[in-house]
Amino acid sequence: MAEDKKEKNKEAVRSFQAVKGMHDVLPADEPYWEKIESVVRALAKDYGFARIEPPVLEFAELYNKTSGDTSDVVQKEMYTLKTKGGDMLALRPEYTPGIARAYLEHGMSRLPQPQRLLAMGRIFRHERPQLGRARQFTQIDLETLGGVSDALYDAEIIEVMSDLLAGLKIKNPTLKLNSIGCRVCRPLYKKQLQAYYRAHEKDLCDDCRVRIDANPLRLLDCKEPGCEKLKEHAPSILDKLCINCSNHFKEVLEYLDEVKIPYELDSRLVRGLDYYSRTVFEFYADGPEAQIGAIAAGGRYDYLMETIGGHITPAVGGASGVERLIAVMRAKETAPNGAASTTPGSKRVFLAHAGELSKKRCFSLLRELRAKGIAVTESLAKDSLGNQLKVADKEGIGIALILGQKEIYEDTVIVRDLTSGIQEAVPVDRLADDLKRRLAAK
Ligand SMILES: [Zn+2]
Ligand SMILES: [Zn+2]
Repeated sequence: MAEDKKEKNKEAVRSFQAVKGMHDVLPADEPYWEKIESVVRALAKDYGFARIEPPVLEFAELYNKTSGDTSDVVQKEMYTLKTKGGDMLALRPEYTPGIARAYLEHGMSRLPQPQRLLAMGRIFRHERPQLGRARQFTQIDLETLGGVSDALYDAEIIEVMSDLLAGLKIKNPTLKLNSIGCRVCRPLYKKQLQAYYRAHEKDLCDDCRVRIDANPLRLLDCKEPGCEKLKEHAPSILDKLCINCSNHFKEVLEYLDEVKIPYELDSRLVRGLDYYSRTVFEFYADGPEAQIGAIAAGGRYDYLMETIGGHITPAVGGASGVERLIAVMRAKETAPNGAASTTPGSKRVFLAHAGELSKKRCFSLLRELRAKGIAVTESLAKDSLGNQLKVADKEGIGIALILGQKEIYEDTVIVRDLTSGIQEAVPVDRLADDLKRRLAAK
């Protein structure tokens, strides 16, 4: 019996930890988030990307049909759940299919084309957590949908991504670029690739042996040493592009030259999702932070809408992972300054009560000061004035307001400069102006 009870108690005090691969965003991270959000917002305004936010849950089928049921994202990494009503839903493993669905569902093709849309929110992928890879992370996603399949829009998405990195002081990123062709030229290239890899099947990893038939392009993506080696002599898609794809790609490069964005061609770059056609790109941080993985990536996906019941709709997009951006910013020590979410101690005042009786009046005085734009901190739950002022000291606050019974009767507050120790009684009706003047001088 006693043992039983002990067990139960043990159960009751079980301490919880965050789920593997899912991280808390802590107050210390906030300046980075704020900086990134403000840069994204400014870019969206400049380029005319309007905010859209599709739901976190979509029908799993949406991703099977678009991202591809042979892609890792769908095959291995999707969090799915069956509702009580029997629907199979998925936590979004990426933004693009949901935004494309919303575009069709809301008849956005009737609006001026292309539509430029921006989303920023949580993404879920059940993969092995490692550097730069978590199971819940945050994406900034940009999509240009509709209109014509013009290389100008491919270049524009890349340009915005490049501006985003520059805005965050992530200097000299490497931009890798490739074209993976269209329905005309890609099947021919795939056949050639299959023939090449079939001849080397015995040197491939187990996954890649399956890929030869299921998804040959992904053979170029494998990081296993044996497979990596075979890539070197694999046929290059850039030699196999049809005339339209080849012209499109050439134009993308010309537009990038026009705005002086440097790039490297990488004929092995294929991206992990099935729906891409023509342009694909990835940005990597300069130096050792390159190992964090791509910090922005995307491509064109003209056929995606067709797979979910729309017409062929030209579209191109890119995404960037916020947590990866922050990891690079931290490593490169490009900490945002002045972006803290709370006012620094030097620009705040501290309100203390001198005795329990004035505590209630302090509570309303806090409200009055905040309404007048004064950042005010307190520790009113502490009983002694000394203990309260210790908190002010810890927070680096230079001005204390002290309110006792006497001051309540006189309708004044004692304003004490905590650095010099000089204090004076200030009438409540002049208090806000007096504090603004003092804070400006700090
Ligand atoms: Zn083509
Ligand atoms: Zn492999």
